Amino acid sequence: MKLTVLGSGTSVPHSQRSSSGFWLETDTGSLLLDCSASAVHRMAQETLDWANLDAIWISHLHLDHVGGLPAFLFGTKYAPETQERKKPLKIFGAKGLRKLIEAFDKAGEYNLLKQPFPVEIIEVESLEKFEILGDMEAVAMDTPHTPESLAIHLRYKNDKTIVYTADTGYTKTIATLARAVDLLVMECSFVKDKPVETHLELAEAMRLVRYGKPKRVILTHLYPEWDEVDFQTEVKKFSPPCEVLEAQDGLRLEI
Ligand SMILES: [Zn+2]
Ligand SMILES: [Zn+2]
Repeated sequence: MKLTVLGSGTSVPHSQRSSSGFWLETDTGSLLLDCSASAVHRMAQETLDWANLDAIWISHLHLDHVGGLPAFLFGTKYAPETQERKKPLKIFGAKGLRKLIEAFDKAGEYNLLKQPFPVEIIEVESLEKFEILGDMEAVAMDTPHTPESLAIHLRYKNDKTIVYTADTGYTKTIATLARAVDLLVMECSFVKDKPVETHLELAEAMRLVRYGKPKRVILTHLYPEWDEVDFQTEVKKFSPPCEVLEAQDGLRLEI
């Protein structure tokens, strides 16, 4: 299984970090975790097969996580690459996703769900188990960020596991969800002295790593204040029990 970081940043425009998007590829399918406006073109820049994308996961309705979805559907409607496509695109996400797409649709009469191929929107509940790809099972869990926000646990072929927290405030249940996973993709918006409760700072992220004992960690959703510090120097202060990587646009990992 391969992960490509499309966007390691936030909603704040940044020259190096575009907003949230992670491409996950298995032997048989592909999944996009969050779809910011920049993720749409980042997929093409990374030469990923966006035209055959199987599934999209939308963690919550903040625009740096979902803002690219209407634009992507507008693109696939007309792109030469998708005109022969027959297999469905499944869009899974938090409560309110359908309403948001329909509101967008209505505003411009785009008919975003009328595509050359079937599009399914599936809103999931916290703790509900579902199949996100043919060989990948998922469970979502509430996080303290917005009322609809969900973290997701992915299990590939009953073997490899990944948790993507998306945006979240501090809660120990993240550590429970991420217990011993092969990869934890966790937000770490701030270095320290976080200005809001609904995101994490490094000390909290490191505490969750100690509780959850994942095998490897990527910290992402990095606000520009991370530009001012050396990532590994800051991380080493907490003596993490596993490898902790700084998300960077274009980073590729084998899981
Ligand atoms: Zn965000
Ligand atoms: Zn958010």
